[in-house]
Amino acid sequence: MLPFAMARARLIPALVAHGGAGAAGPASERFERRRAMLAAVRAGAAILRSGGSALDAVVATVTALEDHPLFNAGYGSILNSEGRVEMDASVMESVPAAPESVGPGHILRAGAVAAVSRVRNPVQLARTVMERSPHILLAGAGAERFARTAGIRLCRPDEMITERARKKWQMRRDRMLATAAEAPARAAVGHGTVGAAAADLHGALAAATSTGGVPGKLFGRIGDSALIGAGTFANALGAASATGHGEAIILSSLCREAVTELAHRPAQRAVRGAITELADLTGAEAGIVLVDRRGRIAYAHNAASMEVAQFNPAGGIRHLRPAPILRASRP
Ligand code: ASP
Repeated sequence: MLPFAMARARLIPALVAHGGAGAAGPASERFERRRAMLAAVRAGAAILRSGGSALDAVVATVTALEDHPLFNAGYGSILNSEGRVEMDASVMESVPAAPESVGPGHILRAGAVAAVSRVRNPVQLARTVMERSPHILLAGAGAERFARTAGIRLCRPDEMITERARKKWQMRRDRMLATAAEAPARAAVGHGTVGAAAADLHGALAAATSTGGVPGKLFGRIGDSALIGAGTFANALGAASATGHGEAIILSSLCREAVTELAHRPAQRAVRGAITELADLTGAEAGIVLVDRRGRIAYAHNAASMEVAQFNPAGGIRHLRPAPILRASRP
């Protein structure tokens, strides 16, 4: 085994966040979305730079994006078929069992919430489930009762609804009435789910994801963002967060697939392979961001657009709109 100092010297902090895969969204909102993503990553990067944990960094990044009304997570989430907000979120971390263990010997922990309507920051509740309950996933009223007992303030469901989200829901409902019970499209037509993945100076990796779900979703629908392995995953090799058509992400276990591939190929090839496999399997659109245990950042998507903001010591903080690796072949 490497001496402790040498093992630590290889650890490079890194953070990558996404703001959802889907349509590019109105040009008038692009500047503000970019600004918000950079601010969120700046908050996470400050934590990593000062020696804080990957978990703190991804939760701070996702919390900042949940609080921003332009993203489909927390305040500003899209509404379901009944005109209600139901949010999903999850976190996972992989922490070295001993300070010098880089690679195997990590302890895995995860927490998630599904279909919650009365919590301002679902990602923080997901973290609380991980840290203060014996479970991984709590849903609906049970998750909200748990939040209250854990000291997290509950809000009224309508406090989570923005005028922008209500207008979009009304437009969609009018369209749906005109075209009868249309299934939610496989194209990730929404935009604005948020997520982050990070590696810290201590060898820990973490990922977090938060969403209001897909446009047109039924009351009670739970998507990939609440499911460990699908929307969020971390182990000793890396950490990843996904966005896009949730049912397809669940079918292909997107994040776990990409992270476990790190055993065989570099990060960028792992994410490209996972998105290609999802597209082959389902014909749907999705995106993923990933950080490996050496702090290498990777991302890929096959939607019209996915915004990414990232931090690492070599490149600083940057915002990007990576091109799709391929377009989904819609059935
Ligand atoms: N994956 C999310 C869901 O299916 C939506 C998204 O990422 O846009 O709930």
